[in-house]
Formats: sequence, C-alpha cells, structure tokens
Amino acid sequence: MKTPICSFDARTGILCPQCNSKLRSGQISGVDVEVSTKLAKALDKNPEISKISLAKAERVDQDYVLVLEPGTLAPLRRDPSLQRAIQNILGGKVWLTEADTTDRKVLEDLFFPVRIANVNTAWLPDGSKMTKVVIPGRKTDRFPHDTEMISKILKDTRGMELMVEFERQ
Ligand SMILES: [Zn+2]
Repeated sequence: MKTPICSFDARTGILCPQCNSKLRSGQISGVDVEVSTKLAKALDKNPEISKISLAKAERVDQDYVLVLEPGTLAPLRRDPSLQRAIQNILGGKVWLTEADTTDRKVLEDLFFPVRIANVNTAWLPDGSKMTKVVIPGRKTDRFPHDTEMISKILKDTRGMELMVEFERQ
C-alpha cells in the first residue's frame, strides 16, 4: 500500500516530523491522514488493501473521493469486493479516480460502470466553462449513480461545472 503519509505513520497514527510539516503547509490534508491511517489499520483483516496506491483523499459531504496513483485504478476494478471493503473501513460511500488525468477519464471513473457516450465543453455567456456529459439511453430506476453528487464532486475537487444529459428522454 502507498499513502500520502509514510507507512509507519499510517500504521501508528502518529505523524513523523516530515509528514507533520507537510500537513501544516497544506501539502497533505487531514482527510489524507484520516484515510491513510484507517486503511493501514485495516490491512491485517483486508490484505487486498495493500494493492492501493493513494495519491490523495478528499471528502465531499459524507462521501470519500480516493485519488489513486496514475495507472493503478484499472486492476482494482477487477476486484469488486475491494471497493465494498474500503467503504466499510471508511464508513462512507467511496468514489475512485486517478491523479494527473483528463476530465474525460475522471468522468469515466466516476460514472463507472456506466459508459459515457460523449463529453462536450461549452463556454457560457459569463465566460465560465461548462462540461456536458452524455449518457447513452434513457435514465431508468436502475441507474446506479446520484448525478447531482457526481456534479458536486467535480465542482469541489476540480472546479468543473457539469451538466448530465441522457441520450433519450
Ligand atoms: Zn511520515
């Protein structure tokens, strides 16, 4: 497992001087520390957690957004019990994305397993940018996501304004 704080700190829950100064300078956040220590403490019971390479953790309302090291998310997707395990450990809904990636990839990660048909960008008259994502088909009761929550996550974590549209009404 890789976390924003050193693994010794994550296991003990006490920050070394380096990690402590990163926290004070804002290079890492309290949520980074909270998530790293909770995951590290659960490692013995949930060895699959060792596959996680956490770059950064964020909280949006009651949900957690885990930003993983680039290229490390796809293998985790093959283990559906892992995401459930992380949710149990953190005690909240967990969204998985990757660091240093494109807007489209972040959208694909947040909407997963729903496929995205199209992503368009529009400039509004006031100069702000709006990203429109188009989902194939129509919205049914089985649609797995709260699209307002996805919009909120994108706004809070990336400053993105999102509009979600379904191909058929
Ligand atoms: Zn440390």
